[in-house]
Amino acid sequence: MRKKIVAGNWKMNTTLAEGIELAKEVNEKVKAAAPAGVKVIVGTPFIHLADVNRLATDIEVAAENCAAEAKGAYTGEVSAAMVKSTGCKYVILGHSERRAYYGETNEILVKKVALALENELDVIFCIGEVLEEREAGKHFDVVKKDIVEGLFNLTAEQFGHIVLAYEPVWAIGTGKTATSEQAEEMHKFIRSVVAEKYGEQVADDTTILYGGSCNAKNADELFSMPNVDGGLIGGASLKADDFMTIITARNNH
Ligand code: PEP
Repeated sequence: MRKKIVAGNWKMNTTLAEGIELAKEVNEKVKAAAPAGVKVIVGTPFIHLADVNRLATDIEVAAENCAAEAKGAYTGEVSAAMVKSTGCKYVILGHSERRAYYGETNEILVKKVALALENELDVIFCIGEVLEEREAGKHFDVVKKDIVEGLFNLTAEQFGHIVLAYEPVWAIGTGKTATSEQAEEMHKFIRSVVAEKYGEQVADDTTILYGGSCNAKNADELFSMPNVDGGLIGGASLKADDFMTIITARNNH
């Protein structure tokens, strides 16, 4: 049975003090509501990870990135082993902002995924098309290419540690959400791509999150879709009440 997950991606927001406050609030709300069917993750900036992991009793913590090298003379980088040493169980890799602004290619991501898995971090792997690709009808090809190039070197056992996040780039931070039908259509396609490579059972067990302006108002509709297993939430994860509404919506389906 695949897991239902609601994961926040704080991006480059919150000072350390603000981040600790937000994480405490989310942790307390999750503890009180006890949404038994949902794994709640907060993805925080690197410098928050150790402190947030220390207070996290009812939530998991993810880094938003890790380095493509194991260790050494890479000034300013943070390795998968360092992320793991803060207590994290997850790392978000391949976010469209990293692909677009930091030249993160599938080739680089293969190295990052390998290091994350070696360090026993599960990977939330992001994929999604830009608007021009959707308008040209290329969205299925683009998403398939990123999955094949970024992940299909993995064994089936390793693939069990991957959570996929479909994030149409035109929906991220724009307030323009994919319709639940568009999300379901793509998630179903993604599951079929995974099934072709690893078989039906692995595909069935793979959690596929939707991300892109998912919020307290539209989460319920998105999560009603059979192949939408949860969400990767940017802006709305910075408000504990909104994030909790999204978690509750996931738990109710
Ligand atoms: C994201 O950054 O992964 C994201 C989905 O952002 P937002 O929810 O703000 O669109």
